[in-house]
Amino acid sequence: MLRNDQLAEWDRENFFHPSTHLAQFARGEQQSRIITGAQGCHIEDRNGKKHLDAFAGLYCVNVGYGRTEIAEAIAKQAHELAYYHAYVGHGTEASITLSKMILDRSPAHMSKVYFGLGGSDANETNVKLVWYYNNILGRPEKKKIISRWRGYHGSGLVTGSLTGLELFHKKFDLPLAQVLHTDAPYYFRRDDLDQSEEQFVAQCVASLEELIAREGADTIAAFIGEPVLGTGGIVPPPAGYWTEIQKVLDKHDILLIADEVVTGFGRLGSMMGSDYYGMKPDIMTIAKGLTSAYAPLSGSIVSERMWKVLEDGTDENGVIGHGWTYSAHPIGAAAGVANLKLLDELNLIENNRETGAYLNKAMRDALGDHPHVGDIRGEGMLCAVEFVRDRDGRILFDASEKIGAQVAGALADSGVIGRAMPQGDILGFAPPFCLTREEADEVVAKTADAVGKILG
Ligand code: PLP
Repeated sequence: MLRNDQLAEWDRENFFHPSTHLAQFARGEQQSRIITGAQGCHIEDRNGKKHLDAFAGLYCVNVGYGRTEIAEAIAKQAHELAYYHAYVGHGTEASITLSKMILDRSPAHMSKVYFGLGGSDANETNVKLVWYYNNILGRPEKKKIISRWRGYHGSGLVTGSLTGLELFHKKFDLPLAQVLHTDAPYYFRRDDLDQSEEQFVAQCVASLEELIAREGADTIAAFIGEPVLGTGGIVPPPAGYWTEIQKVLDKHDILLIADEVVTGFGRLGSMMGSDYYGMKPDIMTIAKGLTSAYAPLSGSIVSERMWKVLEDGTDENGVIGHGWTYSAHPIGAAAGVANLKLLDELNLIENNRETGAYLNKAMRDALGDHPHVGDIRGEGMLCAVEFVRDRDGRILFDASEKIGAQVAGALADSGVIGRAMPQGDILGFAPPFCLTREEADEVVAKTADAVGKILG
């Protein structure tokens, strides 16, 4: 077996890690952490240290680690048929079955699923489909996509543009010109502290209306949003937000892309975030929870209204010129089928609802009065703690102090993994749905200790 120091050296010399401070890693200031195994809500590293993974990887291992049912389904598929493509009407039992299972779990007006590999490529597909749709309808000017500041939709060219976080634009020449950003529905960060939630929603709507008026509704094709802002800070929308946004979109004939990469398949305690907030999407993006990350797979679910236009369009334009080699990969599809079955059989969404509510309440009980905790928020199995210098005036810490990262570091030292969200001093939690109350208690107790260590 390779020695740890040998692996660490190879790692530094050969491996270009995503979302990593490259210079610090190269200098050895950031240690590599090599993960060797996992079970339930716990991962284990090569030093034999166990951690309670309260972020489920990257909020994706929803059913928990070590599920033999999924591993066996993957192995069986690999033995029988590791690969065949999905072009020109080809499929496998797994990919066809999974399409049906996905549509059975989606709002009734959704019609077909196009498979990809991850959330980014699914959102790239979505933008292309929206453009294709408007060209078929003879509206070549209607192409711009509105996203929100703090939205996260991926790291590709279009999707990195849709992502409303500075880090994903800086020095990459993004965002592209076809992408516009509007306000994040982030009530805690409102400018006017006296504003009610209702007034804040009205302000978000007014600012969207202004943007549409400025650009011209006939130039705007779609609006993309996560039901709950994820990477941008785990921010559930204020009451009534989606109902009001939906009205604006309907009025201007702007399509809605619901990015359900995090919220899809149970994260909010409902099957889809769109159901939870009464959204009426024309496209839904799914990924992470589709396979619980046992294999890479994503999907773009299109509505019947869009599908009809796309279908009719091919009679005039020929084969749709959009395909990935690995679209509907049989191994991913087999993992998806086994994963969605498990979600049902083990009542994991119900557990998520109950234990998620318990986790959020326990976090509020433990830290709600802390002078440097400005906000504790969540929905389903999502929870975030936002740190502030001054609670009454809602004055934030200077970003250079890296308070969120320091608390996440102290927490990791105690054996619990939360995530320092990339923009703001926000500690995020998104555990697997199988989290127990005892594990939730451990997350809360160790978070309170870590906060105490860094902030007193
Ligand atoms: N959309 C959302 C809401 C996400 O959270 C993510 C990833 O975190 C993506 C899209 C991009 O997915 P991927 O990293 O699989 O490309």
